[in-house]
Amino acid sequence: LSDRLTETFRNLRTKGKLSPADVDGTVREIRRALLDADVALQVVKDFTAKVRERALGDEVNKALNPAQQVVQIVNEELVAILGGEQRRLQFAKNPPTVIMLAGLQGSGKTTFAGKLARQLEKDGHTPLLVAADLQRPNAVNQLQVVAERAGAAIYAPEPGNGVGDPVQVSRAGVEYARQKQHDIVIIDTAGRLGVDAELMKQASDIRKATNPDEVLFVIDAMIGQDAVNTAKAFQDGVDFTGVVLSKLDGDARGGAALSVASVTGRPIIFASTGENLEDLEPFHPDRMASRILDLGDILTLIEQAQQAFDEEEARKVAEKFATDQFTLEDFLAQMQQLKKMGSMKKMLGMLPGMGQMKQQLDDFDEREIDRTEAIIRSMTPAERRNTKLLNGSRRARIARGSGMTVTDVNQLVNRFEQAAKMMKTVARGGTPNIPGMGAV
Ligand code: GDP
Ligand code: MG
Repeated sequence: LSDRLTETFRNLRTKGKLSPADVDGTVREIRRALLDADVALQVVKDFTAKVRERALGDEVNKALNPAQQVVQIVNEELVAILGGEQRRLQFAKNPPTVIMLAGLQGSGKTTFAGKLARQLEKDGHTPLLVAADLQRPNAVNQLQVVAERAGAAIYAPEPGNGVGDPVQVSRAGVEYARQKQHDIVIIDTAGRLGVDAELMKQASDIRKATNPDEVLFVIDAMIGQDAVNTAKAFQDGVDFTGVVLSKLDGDARGGAALSVASVTGRPIIFASTGENLEDLEPFHPDRMASRILDLGDILTLIEQAQQAFDEEEARKVAEKFATDQFTLEDFLAQMQQLKKMGSMKKMLGMLPGMGQMKQQLDDFDEREIDRTEAIIRSMTPAERRNTKLLNGSRRARIARGSGMTVTDVNQLVNRFEQAAKMMKTVARGGTPNIPGMGAV
């Protein structure tokens, strides 16, 4: 997927303006990339049509950097389909909140039930797991194991009672939660290997009997083109309020996310990312968009645009250095520039293939910048422009004002003065050795 996209974007990157032919070429590649990621055909068609229309529109041709604009459009459209904002679980005004799970057998419902219970407990809730999968002999047992690992309470039919009625068990489970003051009920239901009318009816009956606040449709991210039919069948048969994308670990690109969100219009709420109880994340549409497109490539583009900007900035700064006009104000501005990149670090950590850039950012400590910022902010404008003013009592005042020690203030001023001196030499064509100044 990514290789082809990288090449397309590289081609775009070298051109000034976009011709319809350029756009068509790019759109063709995006289409192929999405199909490779197993996004459903109809979804891909709609998507590329929209991107094409926008890419040929005015917003791109007026832009300084058309290639980047196309990237932006693709990304925006992906995020929009994936639900825009992150959606959280909805809780009932009057507890217990009832959360019902539905999905094919093996999609990851029981595993997710345990993960969700664990997470809710961490947030101070008292979830109850209800074993309403009475289809397979050991399903109840499996939920019991999961509940124990999650440290969550469970409501299950008594063993030896024969095959219970899942609707009855679900209803009794909610009643039990009410009595025992569990504020959340998670109903684990049965699935079949394929879409099945009888099963769908059972799920629908459980829904009617328990009136859930959320019905979460759990779907295996690796399901491929079947995603559309399965999701539609569950939407028609049971209907659901949200989606859980499971098995989003490993190589899954998440094309299913786009398909399901696109054909059902329901938000994806969670990503289940492994077999362990901890492997559960809120679903972030923007991150998923990146993942589908492998934004490793796209970030490179943005990075280059950033560099162009930085060069311009750097030239201005160099001029200031050379003429002795570089002040603590400029220093602060530079620091803030770095800080922006710091928040990128977290984002980059989640993306594959970003090793090199992440390493550069690893060397840099955000808290350090916060401290520096606090100190500079406690100085008067005059002090920021001329560090010579900083006598002992001023330094003590600044330390108090910023919550730092006088030593901290001294260190910052020394570092700044040294840096300014060295940079002045550089700006005038010298080549000093600059310890610790690589980043600035
Ligand atoms: P259910 O039939 O819908 O209840 O599905 P299960 O919860 O029993 O899961 C089916 C299989 O998928 C089990 O072997 C799970 O360990 C595995 N599984 C579930 N969720 C994930 C996940 O997010 N990542 C991975 N790698 N495996 C998962
Ligand atoms: Mg199960």
